[in-house]
Amino acid sequence: MIVKKKDEHLLVTIGKLRFDNPEENSAQLVEDQEANAFLNDIINFPHAYVLACCMDRQVKAEIAWMIPIRLKKIIGDFSIETLNSISLEEYLKLFNENTLHRFNDTMANVFYSAVKRIVKDYDGDAAKIWANNPSSATVVYRFLQFNGVGIKIATMATNILARQYKVPFSDYYSIDISPDVHILRVLRRSGLVDKDANIDSIIYKARELCPEFPGIIDFSCWEIGRTWCRPRNPNCEECIIESECLKII
Ligand code: SF4
Repeated sequence: MIVKKKDEHLLVTIGKLRFDNPEENSAQLVEDQEANAFLNDIINFPHAYVLACCMDRQVKAEIAWMIPIRLKKIIGDFSIETLNSISLEEYLKLFNENTLHRFNDTMANVFYSAVKRIVKDYDGDAAKIWANNPSSATVVYRFLQFNGVGIKIATMATNILARQYKVPFSDYYSIDISPDVHILRVLRRSGLVDKDANIDSIIYKARELCPEFPGIIDFSCWEIGRTWCRPRNPNCEECIIESECLKII
């Protein structure tokens, strides 16, 4: 049984428990296990993670996150030196011929410029984006400097680094939640926000619940949404936040 702290919502307590668990140290980003292992290898291929984040828009996440390993297989290498040696024209060809993304011209440009930024700003080592115990705001800001990366992706990228990869930061204040379908459903049904609450309201509710690390409830909402609070036939009886949930279904 989860022991809730006084004046803390269960969603926060559960998120903190998962965050403190050293065994929860990887992210399930795609179903394909080889691709997932590649994206989780931020020691040897930190740029694969960053480039995948840059690809994550206007297609299903599963498609975007597969792009690095698909390119690796096509090119035969994914070192930053090799990626940096490829011209924009070649990237345009690679994206279009292999239908890597829904918007191949745009995303080939995004990919190319992201590689150039990693080389220019971080000496080719993308891990410098999050090295040396930076503040969460610093890391979010650095992701925002990549062409096409908005606040949702920048906070999601930083949140995964903190929560799943256990990258140490000096604080977690600037890591907001990245509301996906599970988070929206759980927060609305639980009564924490109105059933028609918009994304901005949900972000601020998470800040209210856990000002020092708003994004920590991503963990609990995602787990609850996948396990008990499914779109149909939610299993309220066994749900771990049953005691605090208003069950507005
Ligand atoms: S108690 Fe029911 S409605 Fe509330 S979060 Fe759990 S499954 Fe969803």
